[in-house]
Amino acid sequence: AECEGTIELRDITFAYPQRPDAVVFQGFNLSVPTGRTVALVGESGSGKSTVVSLIERFYDPLGGQVLLDGRDIRDLNLHWLRSTVGLVSQEPVLFNMSVADNIRYGRPDASQEAVEEAARAANAHSFVQALPEGYATQLGEGQIQLSGGQKQRIAIARAIVKDPKVLLLDEATSALDAESERCVQDALDALIEASSITVLVVAHRLSTVRDADRICVMKRGLLVETGTHDDLFQRDGVYADLVRRQTRLARSDSQSLLSQKSSSASLGDAM
Ligand code: ADP
Ligand code: MG
Repeated sequence: AECEGTIELRDITFAYPQRPDAVVFQGFNLSVPTGRTVALVGESGSGKSTVVSLIERFYDPLGGQVLLDGRDIRDLNLHWLRSTVGLVSQEPVLFNMSVADNIRYGRPDASQEAVEEAARAANAHSFVQALPEGYATQLGEGQIQLSGGQKQRIAIARAIVKDPKVLLLDEATSALDAESERCVQDALDALIEASSITVLVVAHRLSTVRDADRICVMKRGLLVETGTHDDLFQRDGVYADLVRRQTRLARSDSQSLLSQKSSSASLGDAM
């Protein structure tokens, strides 16, 4: 059957195997409805990346279930799960192979046409074409060096070419300078808008979070607030405080006329 892309974490208990005494989740619940964008925000260490790791099944929970379309992901083929649920994280991993092969890494049978289409959607096509050998340009040691933003756009193209039903973005732009961040963000925004994909986005800049269908605020492994930006702003709780602090940070950055980098304060920084 066709995958709908509904994600649910149900009553999750979890501690990392290396640190069994440090309980990350105890009875944690989260749902991401089909085709919606849910933003996870919260201070560093609150468990956002752990949610992503559990959905990709890098770890299994000690208790509770992670469900995709109502099915426990432990009952699904792992390869299928990871091709259905795309992940873009902070540090993209590129391999010593051509740009095209880096993009088709997630789907080896992808045609050149599909590779280029994904690159266009990721705002990568024009810079790739401008490389000495275009899509055939080799990446890696002693080869062409790409900027952080270019690498990230290749990683996004790699996620897109798999045509995932669910996309997990874990601080995908937080390591970038302001200009490439905007470029990558535009690519992601266009992708999210154009497709009916289900998206879980972690701790992005406020602008992305603001447009999410639902914002979930985490604190020490707990979901402390849930709602739209307007709901949460009116509630005047943890999220509203966070927004005010980020706005202040951004303002003081522009006043100090520091580098562009500093104006990219993330929600994580503000907490
Ligand atoms: P966030 O992404 O919100 O910053 P994480 O999910 O990375 O938070 O971390 C949640 C908790 O799990 C933190 O206490 C962190 O120290 C711990 N943690 C994260 N990754 C690991 C790991 N690989 N091994 C052990 N503990 C970890
Ligand atoms: Mg994290």
